[in-house]
Amino acid sequence: MILNNQALLERSRRSVWHPCTQMKQHETMPLVPIRSGDGVWLEDFDGKRYLDGVSSWWVNLFGHNNPRIKDAIRQQLDRLEHVILAGFTHAPVVELSEKLSALTGLGHSFYASDGASATEIALKMSFQYWRNSGKPGKTQFISLQNGYHGETLGSLSVTDVALFKDTYASLLRASTQMPSPDWRQAEAGETAEQYALRCASAAETHIANHHTEIAAFILEPLIQCATGMAMYHPAYLERIRDICTRYDIHLVADEIAVGFGRTGTMFAVEQAGVRPDFICLSKGITGGYLPLSVVQTTDEIYAAFYDDSVARGFLHSHSYTGNALACSAALATLAIFEQDNVLAVNRTKAAYINQRLQAINELPVRHLRNTGMIWAFDVQTENPGFQKNFYREALQRGLLLRPSGSTVYFMPPYVINEDEMDWMVTQTLEILHKETA
Ligand SMILES: *Cc1c(COP(=O)(O)O)cnc(C)c1O
Repeated sequence: MILNNQALLERSRRSVWHPCTQMKQHETMPLVPIRSGDGVWLEDFDGKRYLDGVSSWWVNLFGHNNPRIKDAIRQQLDRLEHVILAGFTHAPVVELSEKLSALTGLGHSFYASDGASATEIALKMSFQYWRNSGKPGKTQFISLQNGYHGETLGSLSVTDVALFKDTYASLLRASTQMPSPDWRQAEAGETAEQYALRCASAAETHIANHHTEIAAFILEPLIQCATGMAMYHPAYLERIRDICTRYDIHLVADEIAVGFGRTGTMFAVEQAGVRPDFICLSKGITGGYLPLSVVQTTDEIYAAFYDDSVARGFLHSHSYTGNALACSAALATLAIFEQDNVLAVNRTKAAYINQRLQAINELPVRHLRNTGMIWAFDVQTENPGFQKNFYREALQRGLLLRPSGSTVYFMPPYVINEDEMDWMVTQTLEILHKETA
């Protein structure tokens, strides 16, 4: 039995290989042992609490220990925990597919358990669609500079983050990156929209020259989360949709991080009024309860696989495809969106944080930005240890934030209340005063 912080830390360091971590750093930077969670709060074995300002790596929407999601999982647990989805089906996976289709307008859902698998599935499906459709030369993928689509070999091939990618370069398939429409890169006097359209034109030039070899353009709509919450104008998506349609290229919307209300609309592509050919969803889909991802696509793409020939089908699978418990958590999550008018309530919360964050302009920060329930700003600091110091200082105060370089961001669970928002912003301002003094 684990009874205290220290015992758990030691055992974890000895037995667990933690993700995205140089494990040696934990010689000086202790792990944080968590015993329980409730709402936006996590609690350790000594009763110290941490406000989960990153929604446990962007997955939690309606708080830890959410009674409605727990209840749905419990009820499903008494009926059926899991069944093979090849040759079999069950109610939660059917209901979830129908509900998601009603929201996205994409008629068919293919399931996996994590985001990287979802982006790989979309890429494989796109490639095979063209092959099944008599265009086997369309084998290339394009993505955005600073894009992130996961870290398995296929998804890492279209990811553009040197720290994650360079080590494995010789294992990866080449792909081409289009300029990022991140508005921080706009020239003086250029609006976010003008810059977005300039980037779309640059992409069009590449596509016009190479479209016969390109299967799909994969991108994160509106916010490139993993590379410092780069935000861009929806006009980019509208223009790229049009270009992809004209040149017969699939548009893959990777909404793994931004889907389910993060950008203020249920899905980010809605803000550009476009429908992608594929959408990849995960993270918030189960409210942060269980691993689940889905790739949805159009009836037309689905039809290109529907044939007497087995080999023309999509012969891809994962053991836990369409897991019934995970689907029941996803259904409970969607029910909360319907019952609690979540998107409207979030708009009020976002306005509150924006108003409270105004005080940050007295500090050396740039590019304060907000889309939906994500905030970010770039701290002007010469200190190479800023990221670590900020993280450590915040934890000490009971606030979990993970700056990305000198970019600090908030991505709280939607259930955060006014007192908690006040506290999160106040603590952040105090840390910044200290760290930038
Ligand atoms: C997190 C993320 C992924 C990968 O999801 P995992 O579940 O971590 O494999 C892919 N794309 C985007 C945009 C993400 O934010």
